[in-house]
Amino acid sequence: MVIGTRLAVLAPLPALAAIVVDEEHDASYKQQEGVRYSARDLAIVAASQRKVPIVLGSATPSLESWHAARRGRYGLLALPERVGGAQLPGLERIDLRGRTLRHQLAPESIDAIEAALARGEQALVFINRRGYAPVLACESCGWLSRCSECSAYRVLHRVAPMRTSRSARYRLVCHHCSAEQPVPRTCPDCGNVDLSALGRGTQRLEEGLAELFPDRRIARLDRDVARTRGAAQKVIDAAHAGDVDILVGTQMLAKGHDFRRLTVVVAVDSDGGLFSSDFRAPERMFATLMQVAGRAGRDRAAPPGRVIVQTRFPDHPLFEYLARHDYAGFADSQLAERREVGLPPYRFQALLRAEATTQAEALAFLARAREIGEALQSQATPRGLARASAGALRDDAVALLDPVPMAMSRLAGRERAQLLVEANARPPLHAFLRDWLAALRELRSQVRWQLDVDPLEI
Ligand SMILES: [Zn+2]
Ligand SMILES: [Zn+2]
Repeated sequence: MVIGTRLAVLAPLPALAAIVVDEEHDASYKQQEGVRYSARDLAIVAASQRKVPIVLGSATPSLESWHAARRGRYGLLALPERVGGAQLPGLERIDLRGRTLRHQLAPESIDAIEAALARGEQALVFINRRGYAPVLACESCGWLSRCSECSAYRVLHRVAPMRTSRSARYRLVCHHCSAEQPVPRTCPDCGNVDLSALGRGTQRLEEGLAELFPDRRIARLDRDVARTRGAAQKVIDAAHAGDVDILVGTQMLAKGHDFRRLTVVVAVDSDGGLFSSDFRAPERMFATLMQVAGRAGRDRAAPPGRVIVQTRFPDHPLFEYLARHDYAGFADSQLAERREVGLPPYRFQALLRAEATTQAEALAFLARAREIGEALQSQATPRGLARASAGALRDDAVALLDPVPMAMSRLAGRERAQLLVEANARPPLHAFLRDWLAALRELRSQVRWQLDVDPLEI
């Protein structure tokens, strides 16, 4: 038996009898740099070539897999009952609009944590942002801690304990290019000495919880903690042993741990995925909240746990489905939306990304690539060129959209742009990509480019 992450799919196993892909919806199955491949999809191909069964396991399957099961291409094996027979926790929505919060927590959330702790139980406070605060700002001139290399803000991180001087206690870190700098003593633009931390990450939430619950044992788990070897396991072991009252952290806490005495989960800020420009954001958010919620009340003997979602959009349909633990309803509603606007799994996509010193160079390269692609297309489909417009794409054709700057247009000092290619079926897309790639390789260009089939980030 071979157990492993992505690369395990390539292990040579002459007597392979079955493949199991656990948490098949997890985006980390897709390698996002170097050779871009999806280990889950490779496993599916391997199983079909070797004629062995494959099981894709998940409480919140990817919409691609769910769609295949709905159409009968995959068999659906449902496990409707919770392990151990424990009841599913109830979901409560707290409307944050017009509320006074203490350290980002509504009074109801604080009361729920208090009550659980008084009964000798544990609480988990979830926020999907690590660091102290997402941005440092000057209130007098509007300066923000922008990264000089990326179109992103540098995040304030606490790197030393409270007793050290303010300038030694914090650093500014870019989560995209990892560039770091000391916190400026005064505003670089206007000299104002009062710079303020905007918003909250795990570290600041941990600090706030320590103030609200001064006698309780609080532990934090996020990627920064996990960087120290063995530290993440130490936090998890301590929580299991009952040496932690309140756990605070990112979705690292959501994965698979079974905290028997945990009865209250508070999701501090759940709105990030509701109105994102990334069409996969609601799917990811639903999966994360489902997983986080699944941490509460796993003990059959204990009362069902409470899951509190703090939000400014309590009536959003996503929360309705979540409250009913209705993955199927949520997934089907998402599929209906995607069918209407022509998104995967109803369309197949490939993304050509280009990076250069200037945005103009990157866009010019993609414009040239598009011309080449359209010329190839008109040879292949003499009846005329398929233009990309919703629903108007012919089944044997491929559509090349306009080159545009990427959502994060600058990363580590390079300007980035992208060109999306779409098709209603895989065979024409892949036939096109083969010829197109060959032609693109002929281009002598200083621009760095790569082609990503089934991109996860657009
Ligand atoms: Zn300023
Ligand atoms: Zn950066």
